[in-house]
Amino acid sequence: MLNLVLFGPPGAGKGTQAEFLIKNYQLIHLSTGDLLRNEISANTPLGNEAKSYMDKGELVPDSVVIGMIENKLLTHKEANGFIFDGFPRTVEQARALDELLDRNNTPISGMLSLEVEEQELMERLLKRGEVSGRPDDRDLSVIKNRIEVYRQKTYPLIDHYGSQQKHFSINGMGTIEEIAVRLRETIQQLRK
Ligand code: AMP
Repeated sequence: MLNLVLFGPPGAGKGTQAEFLIKNYQLIHLSTGDLLRNEISANTPLGNEAKSYMDKGELVPDSVVIGMIENKLLTHKEANGFIFDGFPRTVEQARALDELLDRNNTPISGMLSLEVEEQELMERLLKRGEVSGRPDDRDLSVIKNRIEVYRQKTYPLIDHYGSQQKHFSINGMGTIEEIAVRLRETIQQLRK
């Protein structure tokens, strides 16, 4: 199995690159952001709770997102592997994911970390906000908070996977195709 954590700050291009990877490697794409937005559209109690955090650019509680991922892993037992996009975002989520995957003997193969300059992130997010309809992409103070939350709570995961020799840094600047090539080369390397 190939289990990849696609990692990086908001606006790094995780969702865009995940689309290429699922096609090339027949993986299941698990984006907690997408799953939460689906809950909001369906007007579920979980969605309503999550929305109050998402609109401010804060993280949804760990127990909520871990529960969602656990359900998805159980419903895709036949999968070739998974791309985790936007998850894990805290050390507690990373530990929970390690445990869930250990139970099935299918550990994380690698964490692919997209590195993008901060100015570029803000420009990409504001541009996306013009078309995506995502409220959290339209407000500069929410965008800045998301980047700050990433720095404080999510960035430390580089050490979590680094200590397992699973952290791979990828230059996330350039065209979508250039970045896709870099990701493919890294995946070849980690499969050896
Ligand atoms: P994303 O689509 O990954 O940019 O996520 C959008 C928002 O959903 C984030 O700003 C958080 O409020 C929430 N979210 C997504 N994934 C997670 C996660 N793994 N843990 C906590 N909150 C999350």
